[in-house]
Order: sequence, then C-alpha cells, then structure tokens
Amino acid sequence: MNKDATLIFEKTKPGRIGFNLKDKGFPNVDLPQSLLRATPADLPEVSEFDVVRHYTLMSMKNFGVETGFYPLGSCTMKYNPKINDQLATLPGFQNIHPLQPISTTQGLMQIYFETASMLSEISGLDAYSLNPFAGAHGELAGLMIIKRYHMANNDLNRNKIIVPDSAHGTNPASATVAGFETIEIRSNDDGTVNIEALKEALGEDTAGLMLTNPNTAGVFEKDIRLIADLVHEAGGLLYYDGANLNALLGVAKPGDMGFDITHINLHKTFSTPHGGGGPGSGPIGVMKHLEPFLPDPVVIKTKTGYDFKTPTMSIGTLGHFYGNASVWIRAYVYLLTYGKDVAMIGPRAVLNANYVKDALKEHFNTPISGHSMHEFVFDGLKDDSTGIKTLDIAKRLLDYGFHAPTIYFPLIFHQSMMVEPTEVESKETLDQFINALKTVVKESLETPDLVKTAPHTTVVRRLDEVKAARQTILKFKDMP
Ligand SMILES: *Cc1c(COP(=O)(O)O)cnc(C)c1O
Repeated sequence: MNKDATLIFEKTKPGRIGFNLKDKGFPNVDLPQSLLRATPADLPEVSEFDVVRHYTLMSMKNFGVETGFYPLGSCTMKYNPKINDQLATLPGFQNIHPLQPISTTQGLMQIYFETASMLSEISGLDAYSLNPFAGAHGELAGLMIIKRYHMANNDLNRNKIIVPDSAHGTNPASATVAGFETIEIRSNDDGTVNIEALKEALGEDTAGLMLTNPNTAGVFEKDIRLIADLVHEAGGLLYYDGANLNALLGVAKPGDMGFDITHINLHKTFSTPHGGGGPGSGPIGVMKHLEPFLPDPVVIKTKTGYDFKTPTMSIGTLGHFYGNASVWIRAYVYLLTYGKDVAMIGPRAVLNANYVKDALKEHFNTPISGHSMHEFVFDGLKDDSTGIKTLDIAKRLLDYGFHAPTIYFPLIFHQSMMVEPTEVESKETLDQFINALKTVVKESLETPDLVKTAPHTTVVRRLDEVKAARQTILKFKDMP
C-alpha cells in the first residue's frame, strides 16, 4: 500500500502550476476592484500530475464494500447493484428541477407512490412518506407524529419515551430533539426487553416505546406482542427502528408485531451506498390511524396520474421539497429487480451471520446462546489470559485486509464485537474472514504483543483515539 500521508499543501513548490493560459493571446479581463481579493488565495502550488496522483492515491487508501469485506454490525454495509446507480442517474431523473410543474414529473411521482406501496407491503404499515432524509430524520418525524397524536387526543401529559439500554444512540437523541424525556430501561442478559422494567416505566406520562426487532444484539424479541399490548394498554404508541431490515425481509412484518410507526433506512437495506454521511433516505411508515399526521406533502394517486396532498393534521414540512429522490429511485429499481426474491434476503442474511458465528464461537464469549438473526455479538476472547481486548482484535483484522466489525456496541456487554456479514457475501469471503479471525485468536495467545500493537500495515498505526477526540486539529498546520 502507498503510505504517503502528506497533504496536497505539503506538496507545494512555489510557482508550480498546472496549466497557464497567460500570454496565450487571450485578453486580460479587468475585474472591478471590489471583486478582487485583498490577498491571494492560499492554494497549493502543484503540477497537474501532482494533483491527479495525489487524489488517485488517496482514493486507493479508502476501504469500502467495493474493496473488501465490511462486517460492520448495525450498519448493513453491503454491495449495491450498479444498475440502481445507472438508472438513478438517467438524465431524465437527474435533470428534474424540484420546482418543475407536477404535470412534467409524473414518472418520479409514480416511483414515489409505488416505492411507498412496496414498503407498506414489506413492513405491514399502512402508509408511507419518503420525505425524511436519513434514519435519524425518520425517527424525528415519527416522534413528532407521536407528539401530535397525543395532542390531538388532548392527552397532554405524555412526555416520556421509553428506550431499552441496548438501543441505537439515535433513538434517545431523536426523542430529546423532539422534546421528550427519555426513560431508559434495562435489558435482559440477552439484550431483550425486560418486561418487569417495562411495566415499571409505563404510565400515564408514556408517549411511546422505541424498539428494534431483532434487537442490536441480534436477538428476536419473542415477547413482542405482549410488549405491544402493554404499551398500547398504557396509552402509548410503538415505534419500530427499522434501520436494518435485512433480518426480517420476507419473514416477518413490524406491522404484524403491533408497531404503529416505523422508519426504514433505504441506504442500508434497500441499496444506496452509505457511510461518509449521505445521501440517505429514512421513509416513515404509519398505521391507518396516524396517516393524517404524515409529513407534508404526501404523493397520492388520482384518476389521471399523481398529485401532492397535505395530510389533514400533518406535522409539517421536514426539509426542502419531498426527500432524496435518487435514493428512492435506487430502492425502487432494487425492489423491482428482486421481485418476490426479496423474501430470500432475510433468510440469507441470517444464514450468513450464523455461519460465521458458529465457526468462531469456540474462541469467543457468546453472551447470547443459540442462533442469532442477521448479526451477532461476541464478548471478548474466551481465553483472555494474555490481556487481549476486542479493540486489539479489531485493529489486527485491518492487517489482514478486513474492515473491523462494530466494537464496544451494544453497550450492554463489556467487550462487544458485533458482526453483520449481510446477505450478499459468498461462502468463500466468509471463510476468509473466519480464517483471519482464527489466525488473530492464535496470535493473541502466542504472540500477544503483535496483536496489541496492531495495525502494522496501514497508513497510520494505532491512534490515540481519546486524544484525537479531545484535541481536534481541523486545519492544516501552516494555515492562518
Ligand atoms: C443507522 C441506524 C440509525 C440511524 O440512521 P441514519 O441514516 O444514520 O440517521 C438508527 N437506528 C439504527 C438501528 C441504525 O443502525
């Protein structure tokens, strides 16, 4: 691997430029003084070759699903068919202006409508809005709906959202942004909801419960109907965090489990590359009784085509226009190409996860016995006599060309390592990953220092992550 870690500014040689139009017979343009800079822009002075090589080599230092296995639990990093990108970037889609008359964007409106219908069918929720721009944004929309619903019922003291301690961090964060107080309840040892703790937390101030199923430890919440009944009897609503739907696709529906609201991350389960911050889409689905609260606008089918409508008790507009169109086009193409085979995604995701788990469980603590769903958690090495921690193992995996799994999440275990292979990986890739982890386990016992000082082959070695977080350096050292 190319280990050059210099910045483009450090490659500067005063006076060096890419290409100069000066003295080529073009007249100088006299710009008004007010438009001119007082001091020259602080730009790197490099040749065109310097620039091209710098950025090409930098792109090669990236690690992504297209360069290697990326088993990041709770994030669903998977291959997304290129045909989806190609169709999403057709000029007819790409050149649509958001302010174009609806009569000229009927195709896109149809995609919105039909994607929403397919998500309804898949999840068992009655109506969808594709407007939210990300998973957390969908959560916010859902919580605003919960708030509006209670207000509409003149039930004004419901200000608490219950979240299990195994929840994804965005859940309590979204609840806070929406103006709720978060009540965290303890989980059972396997990460499932502790029914007694839930009963204690429920009351007249309960606005709702946020849950994901399978939970973050990869366990299916078998008591989900009981949980739903308890929350509903207490007057609350049930919110499903459907960011990662891989385990359920074709097998079970949140709507059947008693959930009232869900968001889905199209950029995790339905084919948009993610990581690095976007673009995303977090459609929000609701049961019939909450449909009037959906964000404005929703797309409806009329006798002659498609149109916008403002739901009668809408929580309002969530952002500019009506969402990230390119992401729903990808999801639409993905769903149409899969067709009924969508029902194979869940079983394959589950099979892959259990294949890896089973091959390695003799070496790692498995806080959850039995089968997992689409992801699983190990809680440190069984033989930790040499002091090797999950962090060391994750770092050493980088030397073998694998992205590290999610580590130290969920927080309910001390040495969590959370692996999600996804449904798209082959047996060969899974075997390579299993063998790499077995090698690291062997090294952990025989040459622990090698593992404790890993990574050894990456551009930068082990970082002081606390220092990196506390003393952030956000600009190049020589810049004013
Ligand atoms: C990724 C994720 C989210 C948040 O989605 P964003 O699009 O990143 O905002 C919420 N919940 C779970 C379980 C997730 O994995």
